[in-house]
Amino acid sequence: MMVYNVCMNSTNESSGPPTVTFFGATQSVSGSMHLIKSGQHRFLLDCGLHRGPRHSSNDRNAHFAFDPCKIDALFLSHAHVDHCGNIPNLVRQGFDGPIYCTHATRDLIQVMLEDSARIQEDESNNYRSSFRRGGRSMPPALFGRKDVDKAINQCVAVDYLETVDVNPDVQLRFIDAGHILGSAMVAVAFMQGGREYSVTFTGDLGRRGIPFLDEPSQVPPADLIICESTYGGKRHDTLAGMAAKMADVVTRTVARGGKVLIPAFSLGRTQLVLNYLRVWMADGLLPRVPIYVDSPLAREIDDVYQQYSDLLEPVVDGVACEWLESDDDAISRTTQREPCIIVASGGMCEGGRIVRHLKYHIDDPRSTIVLVSYQAPDSVGAQLLSSTPIIRLHGQIWNKWIDVAEINGFSGHADEVDFEFLLRAAVESTGRVRLVHGELPQMHALAKQFKQMGFADVGAPKRNETVSL
Ligand SMILES: [Zn+2]
Repeated sequence: MMVYNVCMNSTNESSGPPTVTFFGATQSVSGSMHLIKSGQHRFLLDCGLHRGPRHSSNDRNAHFAFDPCKIDALFLSHAHVDHCGNIPNLVRQGFDGPIYCTHATRDLIQVMLEDSARIQEDESNNYRSSFRRGGRSMPPALFGRKDVDKAINQCVAVDYLETVDVNPDVQLRFIDAGHILGSAMVAVAFMQGGREYSVTFTGDLGRRGIPFLDEPSQVPPADLIICESTYGGKRHDTLAGMAAKMADVVTRTVARGGKVLIPAFSLGRTQLVLNYLRVWMADGLLPRVPIYVDSPLAREIDDVYQQYSDLLEPVVDGVACEWLESDDDAISRTTQREPCIIVASGGMCEGGRIVRHLKYHIDDPRSTIVLVSYQAPDSVGAQLLSSTPIIRLHGQIWNKWIDVAEINGFSGHADEVDFEFLLRAAVESTGRVRLVHGELPQMHALAKQFKQMGFADVGAPKRNETVSL
């Protein structure tokens, strides 16, 4: 069994109830990171990468608001980079305690963090050459592959619902959140001063009604529930509605001889979209056209998904998809005469493989781009959805003659109906609810809903704000 050199904490803060301080995903959707203090112990919930304007996010990701060496353990909800992407940097800066997560999350973060390290090393090299010419110093990479290896070695993988004794006073359980493979809510119970306290952190909570993964479990009551709010006040399309929209889009596009482009984030969304394209083709709802997938990262992730096939709906027989292995493959498929569906990385069309396909088809009125992800206000995806006749893509202006469709039901997040269902049993026995991981309008809508459900104390903390249990 691995022995960890857990840093000894030198503080004397052993009195008072446990507290939680919110360091990320506060009134926004990136950089999930919350610190629990209980007596002399410190536990981190998630360690995500913050995304924003390059300079400020570089600085924020590089510097933690606490001493990484004083963290006893990290409890990780799932493998999206806005939840796990800064772990190697935490390790690089001295955190050497256990990283508790589910088995699938451990395997997925290995893929995600190695990919991230590769990107950082490439960016660092690009900076090096451009900064050398300008005579300025180079911002260092946040982490490298060695830090990723060390982080993976610190992972302690546990089963859903297994009770883990983190230390004699702290117990941990992971509960299926139904968001992506391996995703979990984190339920922590502490003994302090002869009293028991509890925290439930939802991580990202999945949506119900689209069988692929198991549905999210009920959210356990706690002294403090830290709840995501991405789609507060919103309602997703039903599965039947999504199928009808996709059928309409694909049928019309194929009849025109065009291509259907679907930009999708590599982890979670791509697997879900591919599953339903295959299901709907097998059921005769969609015309059978070739499905191509252009995303090397999604290919690696797919291998992990295959290892956990017992946690997924069975793969549909008879409808294959082809992974595009090389640039030549991608160009040849995107320029072929025959209609097809191309699923490519880059959910908001800001980067990723979707960009090269978009450049071929953005001014082709026969083709359609189907947006299946959240589109940030200034993203290329938001420009596509707007009514303007042109868009700016990679510094160039393009005529927007491609058809644009939006299907929001592929979201991996709970909507207002799901929140009602998943939290109503927790109302009676819950102290406080603090909302994270959402924009302010969605947080306000969810706070209003939770108050109507009977939760007495609901808030949306600002960054660095602390709440007592
Ligand atoms: Zn997520």
